[in-house]
Amino acid sequence: MTRWFRIISTRSAWFGLVLHVLVYDQTRAPLDVIGRAQAMTTAIFRRVGVELDWVDPAVRRVAASTYVIRLVPDAPTASGNVLGFAVPDSHMASVLYERVDRLAGPSTRDVATAIGHVMAHELGHLLLSDASHSAAGLMRSEFDIVRAGQGALRFSDDQARTIRAAVAAADR
Ligand SMILES: [Zn+2]
Repeated sequence: MTRWFRIISTRSAWFGLVLHVLVYDQTRAPLDVIGRAQAMTTAIFRRVGVELDWVDPAVRRVAASTYVIRLVPDAPTASGNVLGFAVPDSHMASVLYERVDRLAGPSTRDVATAIGHVMAHELGHLLLSDASHSAAGLMRSEFDIVRAGQGALRFSDDQARTIRAAVAAADR
């Protein structure tokens, strides 16, 4: 066991790219759903060589480099098919929980998968400094819950490079 942990920490020290993310939950979402969504977002970022560090403000001071995801029930002014949004040139994004919940259907597993992907997508906008969407993958404008469940929605190699550079700059 000890050896296993040592290998893991050596590996993350090798990559050295850590993104600090705080979830500010303003919904009544079940905690286990949020936890599983965070695990999903973590897995998506690990594929591009970035480790997510989920900040608990009750335990730790929040550094200026921290990215904040607000989980809100809804945003009445957001147009019909919007599931989340990112504030350009900021560290702040929002995820519209009730809309994602409705889209995902009754399975809490699907809801967690969907929330995890929307969080990754909005973090993607912040890190790519780009409001535009790609034709395929995680940064497509339309969210495909089926492909998300298959683990098929990812950042492109180009996006991965830009994200790594942005994380390296943010954590300096
Ligand atoms: Zn988007």
